Parts: sequence; C-alpha cells; structure tokens
Amino acid sequence: MSDTFHMQRALAIAATGLGRTGENPCVGCTIVRDGVIVGEARTADTGRPHAEEQALAQAGDARGATAYVTLEPCAKRTSGGASCSDLLIAAGIARVVIAIRDPHPFAAGIGIERLRAAGVQVDVGLLEEEARAQNADFFAKYEAKDR
Ligand SMILES: [Zn+2]
Repeated sequence: MSDTFHMQRALAIAATGLGRTGENPCVGCTIVRDGVIVGEARTADTGRPHAEEQALAQAGDARGATAYVTLEPCAKRTSGGASCSDLLIAAGIARVVIAIRDPHPFAAGIGIERLRAAGVQVDVGLLEEEARAQNADFFAKYEAKDR
C-alpha cells in the first residue's frame, strides 16, 4: 500500500474525533510495519493522550516501522511524560511521514528537527491541504499571525 493510502487512513481516523478535542487539533496516526497496519489512533477526546502515543502502544514492537501522522509530532515534554517525537524515537520508528508542520510558533519544525537529529527519515507535506482543512480553525489561529 502506498504512502497516500496510509495517510488517508490517518486522516479518516482523525475525522472521527473532529470537534471532540477542545482547543486541541484532532490528529490521526497510523503505524505500518512490513506493510501491515499495527497501530492507529486519534487524539483522545480530552486532547490527551496524543494519537502517536496510543498508536505506538497498540503497535507494541514498532522497530523499523513507518508512522503516518496528520500533524507534526510534538516535541515538548509535558507533565504527562515524553513528547511524541521522543516516543517515536524511543520506539525505533525508522520513518515518519507528516502531512503538515505544526503552525504553533513554539512548536513549528521542532519535532521534525528532533526526529531527523535522531536519524529518523522524515517526509513532510503528504496530503497537506486535506490535513489543514480538517483542523481549519487551529491552523487559521496560528497561521494568520504570519500574514
Ligand atoms: Zn504529541
């Protein structure tokens, strides 16, 4: 199956939670290992845990796998524990495909940098417009400040 197929699946999963994550964007994550989907999740209704954390927990052994995420993984540690970027690295994920960069000024590009610095292959921009449209309010809020 193609990258596009898996990202479309991540978007479809995220769609099931739209409007239920409060101020947080609803993000979808699909983890594929050896061509098999081993984990998939969206942002929980409260905004936590994030999609990546849940999908990794489902996947179990995710070494060498590819993660498809509809928004750049977070890189800041929160009170709950490690950031999603750190979790993906710790799990041994080999490649992360990201639909769109996080527009938040304190987050944009940081997750991507952290993943790449750890040797993870990162590809950004697959189905970007679809991902932006899903969380249009979230993107409008932060992207508007650049204009
Ligand atoms: Zn996260």
